[in-house]
Amino acid sequence: MHNFIQQLGIKELNPGVSIGLNWLSSAGEKITSYSPVNGKEIAAVTAADKASYEAVIAKAQQAFTEWRIWPAPKRGEIVRQIGEALRAKKEPLGQLVSYEMGKSLQEGYGEVQEMIDICDFAVGLARQLHGLTMHSERPGHRMYEQWHPLGIVGIISAFNFPVAVWSWNTMLAWVCGDVCIWKPSEKTPLCGIACQHIVAEVFAKNNVPEGVSCLIQGGREIGEWMSHDTRVPLVSATGSTRMGKAVGAAVGERLGRSLLELGGNNAIIISEHADLNIAIRGALFGAVGTAGQRCTTTRRLIIHESIYDTVKEKLVAAYKQLSIGDPLNESNHVGPLIDTDAVKNYLHAIEQCKTEGGHFIVEGGVLEGAGYEGGCYVKPCIAEAKPAYKIVQHETFAPILYLLKYSTIAEAVAIQNGVPQGLSSSIMTLNLREAEQFLSAGGSDCGIANVNIGTSGAEIGGAFGGEKETGGGRESGSDAWKNYMRRQTNTINYSNNLPLAQGIKFDL
Ligand code: NAD
Repeated sequence: MHNFIQQLGIKELNPGVSIGLNWLSSAGEKITSYSPVNGKEIAAVTAADKASYEAVIAKAQQAFTEWRIWPAPKRGEIVRQIGEALRAKKEPLGQLVSYEMGKSLQEGYGEVQEMIDICDFAVGLARQLHGLTMHSERPGHRMYEQWHPLGIVGIISAFNFPVAVWSWNTMLAWVCGDVCIWKPSEKTPLCGIACQHIVAEVFAKNNVPEGVSCLIQGGREIGEWMSHDTRVPLVSATGSTRMGKAVGAAVGERLGRSLLELGGNNAIIISEHADLNIAIRGALFGAVGTAGQRCTTTRRLIIHESIYDTVKEKLVAAYKQLSIGDPLNESNHVGPLIDTDAVKNYLHAIEQCKTEGGHFIVEGGVLEGAGYEGGCYVKPCIAEAKPAYKIVQHETFAPILYLLKYSTIAEAVAIQNGVPQGLSSSIMTLNLREAEQFLSAGGSDCGIANVNIGTSGAEIGGAFGGEKETGGGRESGSDAWKNYMRRQTNTINYSNNLPLAQGIKFDL
């Protein structure tokens, strides 16, 4: 076993259910984690069964009654210490992210840095969480609103950001006074074990009630239990649109709250007024970073007809420079896909694109031979396509880039918006008028719209998420914290009278 794995408290077989530092035994199935880097088994966890799930819910409910009355800045102090603990563990945790998920080492460290950044953000927030005051229409009355904790926040996360997404949710939820139950992706269970170890130690040192941080491992059925559970007022789910529709329906049916962060189909418009150096860099990073497995990956380039051939040539040249291989080796740009199912989806998408009339100018394919034994390394590829192709409308979680041509800016925006998803979008232009059109109410319909930077690489300070089939949720910065609290309007009468609404009078 690698050193970094041991440093994070991971064993051969790990209990998959935990309430703080208290690891529970469970009769759930065994989930084995394989590294996409080399196909080798890393370690295994036991999934939650119904009994351990119930134990977790009970402890979380109990912890909430205490945690919700801790002053928010004191909760912030705990999150500050978690940020310090993450700084101390940045290296091994980043290495684990890279090894278990397959993203490059720099991206693994970058993901842990995002966790540290959201801790810092949440610490400041702990002294804010402010409501408004309003002027009452009644004499001698005061009216204001305040924000209270919600209760248990259930977090369902995807494999591609195996630790950051959890931290975006938990750090805010904790300063807001909520308690969290996390179900990580069954493809990256060890990242969950590592985070729970780091956090639970900080909690134990500070006498935080154990149930404030809980971990339940398992597949989709565990997510389904949470989605149907009225004891979980908020379910924050990150993953595919298919999953989000199921979670949204189950939570909605019981009138609970869901926060959905789902698939994207992100495009960059490259105008004839673009700085092409910036445009090509942005497109390349967006399309091949994390081997095309970011929700914000650039999947479509919408290119002005006058520069289409130039952009095409530059992209083909840039793709020739890419080195594909072990993500722990920092000289490689592109690592593996998460598993062989993902490779099948990639191959299927290439075939479908060809069937619909697409023409590949950079061919795809699966790499074989020394260093590629795991079977998960694929070539990033580029196809010339049409906006209406079914495959272009669909998010394939792999490095396939579609080139589309436009002649007017109105047409480019219509193509950009003409997909079911609405996460991230960008325009490359030095023309102020078209940049503003793109950002206006008549422009991009996405949750994220950028000018002269690509579609991926969002900062934690902004609210993150998207519209339409992306689910409508917003996480991380800005006022996303409001998702984790309930708003209460308070009216206080400090007069000697009780004026009734609508001027109604009782002769008493
Ligand atoms: P996935 O939908 O297969 O799984 C995500 C999580 O949902 C897992 O923990 C899984 O066990 C759980 N799950 C699956 N079906 C469920 C159900 N019916 N009820 C409850 N839980 C269920 O997604 P994935 O392959 O892990 O991740 C890739 C997808 O995630 C892509 O579509 C990507 O765009 C999306 N994603 C979105 C964001 C965002 O912020 N918008 C971020 C990361 C990933």
